[in-house]
Amino acid sequence: MAMVAPSRASMTDGLGRRIDYLRISVTDRCDLRCRYCMAERMTFLPKNQVLTLEEIALLADLFIARGVRKIRLTGGEPLVRRDMPDLVRRIGRHLGGSLDELTLTTNGTRLAEHAARLHDAGVRRINVSLDSLSPARFAHITRGGEISRVMQGLDAAREAGLAVKINMVALKGVNEDEILPMLHWCDSRGFDLTLIETMPLGDTGEDRTDHYLPLTHVMEHIRQRRRLTALPERTGGPARYYAVEGMGARLGFITPLTDNFCADCNRMRMTCEGKIFMCLGHEDHVDFRAALREGGLEAVQPLIDRALRLKPARHDFRIGAAAPAAALSRHMSVTGG
Ligand code: SAM
Ligand code: SF4
Repeated sequence: MAMVAPSRASMTDGLGRRIDYLRISVTDRCDLRCRYCMAERMTFLPKNQVLTLEEIALLADLFIARGVRKIRLTGGEPLVRRDMPDLVRRIGRHLGGSLDELTLTTNGTRLAEHAARLHDAGVRRINVSLDSLSPARFAHITRGGEISRVMQGLDAAREAGLAVKINMVALKGVNEDEILPMLHWCDSRGFDLTLIETMPLGDTGEDRTDHYLPLTHVMEHIRQRRRLTALPERTGGPARYYAVEGMGARLGFITPLTDNFCADCNRMRMTCEGKIFMCLGHEDHVDFRAALREGGLEAVQPLIDRALRLKPARHDFRIGAAAPAAALSRHMSVTGG
């Protein structure tokens, strides 16, 4: 297939937002079954519908040539894909040139074997999801996961020199009592912590309304104990960060439901099937896989402009009595969190 010629073009959507951040879901599969993310029994995509390493790498090249400066690899669980090390190396070649950052979101279960290789390929920061420090609770939330593997992965990440941010989905009645202990634990290990509101994506066989915990309440609770100072920096994602009095750890909040963050959204997402979604909260998408397989990269180029025109002003997530259990049928693992 043809190589992508470098260009200095940049991508701007219909509302003037500059789009320079691409999240790529490299697989819909996962070795865990977190209750808020997946159903216990999932039907995964057949292999021929999932982009090959070569296809993902070519599309990444194309987006980088069009102005993407930051790529996050996610899933599903990205590290269950056997060719991940090659993919990371391949995309990592752009670092220091037309790509500023390559990052990864992982559940950490296979991080011990991958951490050093990720660092060698140029990855410097990773997000690791961890919703509880209790082995029993972790096993409950993930439907059978072993926390010791994540802990080994986190040790390996630290040894390899990767900066770690812990992602914790705040769940009422499940882990809300662990939020402060988790913040202290992160601080003691040199990690940052981002709290996430549960989003109504995909049928999980459970009612999220029962466990929805507005982060405005959590922030209030923490504020009564520690002073929080808003930090100006953003990391290209939707989180807003705070310095915590007396701690080195930064605390982030991702609040799609209580505080809409769309006005400065710079992101687009590619699913493992090669569909480009301009918003996690909308069904509109453009199918790049069909174009790539039928017409090569030339057929894909014009689709980028079509995708940019699709970017909506805002998502439309709601949760509660008036909202359906899953606002969108897609699971987060398909579009990539
Ligand atoms: N498997 C990897 C992991 O767990 O980090 C990467 C994919 S996962 C879909 C990415 C992030 O999305 C995780 O931090 C996870 O907790 C979060 N997530 C999944 N489903 C969610 C939901 N319905 N609402 C909010 N966050 C969700
Ligand atoms: Fe797997 Fe991540 Fe979803 Fe948990 S949140 S089921 S680890 S994809």
